[in-house]
Amino acid sequence: MIVVLKKEATEAEIRHIEQKAAALGLKSHISRGEERTVIGFIGPEDKLQMIPLEIFPGVEQVIPVLAPYRLVSREFRPQDSLVRIKEGVVAGGKKLLIIAGPCSIEGPEMLLSIARRVKVAGATVLRGGAFKPRTSPYDFQGLGEEGLRILKSVGDEAGMATVTEVMDPRDVALVARYADMFQIGARNMQNFTLLKEVGQARKPVLLKRGPCATVKEWLMSAEYILSQGNFDVVLCERGIRTFETETRNTLDINAVPAVKMRSHLPVIIDPSHGTGRWGLVTPIARAGVAAGADGLAIEVHEAPEEAVSDGAQSLLPRKFEAMMADIRRVALAVNREV
Ligand code: PEP
Ligand code: MN
Repeated sequence: MIVVLKKEATEAEIRHIEQKAAALGLKSHISRGEERTVIGFIGPEDKLQMIPLEIFPGVEQVIPVLAPYRLVSREFRPQDSLVRIKEGVVAGGKKLLIIAGPCSIEGPEMLLSIARRVKVAGATVLRGGAFKPRTSPYDFQGLGEEGLRILKSVGDEAGMATVTEVMDPRDVALVARYADMFQIGARNMQNFTLLKEVGQARKPVLLKRGPCATVKEWLMSAEYILSQGNFDVVLCERGIRTFETETRNTLDINAVPAVKMRSHLPVIIDPSHGTGRWGLVTPIARAGVAAGADGLAIEVHEAPEEAVSDGAQSLLPRKFEAMMADIRRVALAVNREV
């Protein structure tokens, strides 16, 4: 249930509603917009339905929420959310969020050299995995903490924000020490213990869609994070598993405007994992931006044939630069900026 307050509702009236809800075992989340202030409740909703909230002072309207998610919904927050990743790096505004870097962190020199190239081309967030979710236990698993150290020092040196995957709830504090943003990988989208853990951390989260997850399940996973008090979530469509074998995954472009209608959270796309083929990355990136995506996550490597993971879908820096020139034009056409 969501309560929309009157414009002139006072702090005392808001507190009164919060206290009533708390007495029934519900937690209140307040969203203060320019147009209106809204309270969303988490907890046993049936108890709340027993009190006539619509006659409480300051209340304009009580909206039952039919969707199973609340805090991520547009009903709760009609305006687009802005997620601040680092000073001057924001997702969800007019400017697109461009994340770029190798699939895995392989060493300091390679990361710094990629970082410098992608930054000049317009990326503001450096990506790179230190903990890698590999299908085979015999494949490269990532450099672990050493990789995190490299990411932080290169991010600082290049003047970029950083994002990296956290796979284990026990590593959340460790990753938080080094990175500006957590990535929850596709395979962990429904690792609810991990979602709760990053929900309690005070760092933004890039939540990738599971390869077999519906949009509703994806939004429910985001709800897990918001319900713990962390509203800084950016959603990432990275392709789903379909019957098609031509590409690694099928990037669900439909999901971009569909999610943006249902949720206030920023949505970006990852055409690298979404296609699995470097030659398809730029066209799908263009399509995603045209469809309203708030940004891109792109894998870049200077020697893709030698990459320890995902070389086939990685762009050379010069291809990334060319893609960015294309994206600038598409962005302009849909009233966005890079
Ligand atoms: C990645 O970003 O390198 C990655 C493993 O992505 P996903 O979880 O989408 O497969
Ligand atoms: Mn990858």
